[in-house]
Amino acid sequence: METEVLIIGGGATGTGIARDLALRGIRSIVVEKGDINAGASGGNHGLLHSGARYVSNDAGSARECMEEADILRQTAPHCIDDCGGLFAAVQGDDENYVADFPNFCEKAGLDTTAIPPEAAREMEPLLADETIAAFRVRDGAIDPFMLSLENMAHARALGATLLCHTQVVGFERQNHCITKVWLEKTGTGERFSVEPRQIINATGAWAGKVAALAGATTHVLYSMGTLLVTQSRMTQGVINRLRPPSDADILVPGGTVSILGTTSVRVDDPDRIRPTVAETNLIVEQGSKMIPSLEQTRYIRAYSGVRPLVSQSSGVGDDRTVSRGFVLLDHASDNLDNFATITGGKLTTFRLMAEKTANLVAARLGNKTPCTTKTAPLPSTLDGKWTEPGIAPSVWFAKPAGKKDKILCECEMIPESTIDAIATALRNSNETPNLLTIGRRSRLGKGPCQGAFCSTRVLAHMYNQGALSGPGGVDDIKAFLDERWKGQQAIFWGDQLVQAELTEAMHCGLFDLELAQPGDHGHDH
Ligand SMILES: Cc1cc2nc3c(=O)[nH]c(=O)nc-3n(C[C@H](O)[C@H](O)[C@H](O)COP(=O)(O)OP(=O)(O)OC[C@H]3O[C@@H](n4cnc5c(N)ncnc54)[C@H](O)[C@@H]3O)c2cc1C
Repeated sequence: METEVLIIGGGATGTGIARDLALRGIRSIVVEKGDINAGASGGNHGLLHSGARYVSNDAGSARECMEEADILRQTAPHCIDDCGGLFAAVQGDDENYVADFPNFCEKAGLDTTAIPPEAAREMEPLLADETIAAFRVRDGAIDPFMLSLENMAHARALGATLLCHTQVVGFERQNHCITKVWLEKTGTGERFSVEPRQIINATGAWAGKVAALAGATTHVLYSMGTLLVTQSRMTQGVINRLRPPSDADILVPGGTVSILGTTSVRVDDPDRIRPTVAETNLIVEQGSKMIPSLEQTRYIRAYSGVRPLVSQSSGVGDDRTVSRGFVLLDHASDNLDNFATITGGKLTTFRLMAEKTANLVAARLGNKTPCTTKTAPLPSTLDGKWTEPGIAPSVWFAKPAGKKDKILCECEMIPESTIDAIATALRNSNETPNLLTIGRRSRLGKGPCQGAFCSTRVLAHMYNQGALSGPGGVDDIKAFLDERWKGQQAIFWGDQLVQAELTEAMHCGLFDLELAQPGDHGHDH
């Protein structure tokens, strides 16, 4: 297999680079060891940063966020909920920081408006009575799945190729160039090679591991962050705690739910992360100081992601003090001419990261076409649209009179026709439709029942449609429920624990599935 550019990593950065290169007429293959957004791009807060979070410690990042968020509002409005946001301080918060905040924002060039606490509570009635100061900022929410799926769909329409469930396992090198990259299909173990002219390592937290395979050096530390999903949307806009960045100080609307987080815990392995009970308790305790009802609300899921911290430091101190800016390495110091690494940064700045990386690689290939992603609209396609909460129900409501279209997922109102459309799109891209791949491209399993009921219905539907045969469906449902279960263990208490017992009994009874593994109580990661 030959290609001009091999992009390793199918997160926001990798898919963004594929689109940027494709718009310049450069062909690429994206290889992803899991599915689209299997890494941090599928485990983040979904905050389209105004930049205000960084004004006190990283004015450069703050400005970068502000500019990139504005570009995305223009070019990818369908992926964004431009809901606005507030920074709010409560009694006991550092009043010096509150007083300095407008100056920090002004210095970084960010617009903020001070509003009286009573007016803030009128805007967001769930804010604490103890709110002492509030500022309005231009935060928003962004759908990371829609973003990456749409970027990849556009890149593919322009000639790029996506290989999911395919891992880079080795490189062959001659003098200053990598001549061959070895890939392995996860699941089957089948090995094959690609001979690209240029290779981009866009593997986020895994960048150090992949660089090492190529004989290059990138020092990456891992900081895990955990987030909690509430059962309904708590606020209209984003709410940030007005204090230096800390645990559990942001609540972001995510369509019909809200997402509360996050934490920063150093971990050893980006492949072995899971939310812990200690983090969950901390997030609820801290979050409820801004929004007291966060203490009583029902949480439907917890999930974690890993931030790559590219640091020259000794590794001591708070991970939040390490810059959240991105790092582009050309590996000249490793004597490599056709390998580049892009890591760190933010979802909000993925486009800029892609632009800088594509500039480097295009120059190496002698391609002078300039970047156009600052102004070229991101097309809205079938590949990305099903991740939006209201879309599947609207399709169901709009069905012609008398046409049967059974609802398979009641929480998110997903009908058979939506499942069929996603399965067809997956087959058209040489992907296998199963519960996990369908779940990643839709709201399946994301509602309050977390897949307890819809998983069996969708599986039965797939057997009826001939998409599955034999006993393979049991492995499919187990993989799907394991993934949902992983996100629930750390939030089980009260009535939810009772419901979880019912769910487990159901699936053990129906399919002989044992969901929890021995010692698997959400304490380890
Ligand atoms: C908890 C948390 C909250 C965050 N919140 C926000 C936020 O609200 N707003 C914001 O702007 N940013 C946020 N971020 C940052 C943002 O998520 C990341 O900057 C962004 O998703 C990084 O994308 P990426 O494509 O570079 O990396 P990733 O999304 O991690 O993609 C790397 C991919 O490489 C793949 N890979 C690894 N090794 C191999 C291999 N050998 N072969 C093939 N594929 C491989 C992985 O499977 C993975 O899919 C947050 C991050 C975390 C962890």
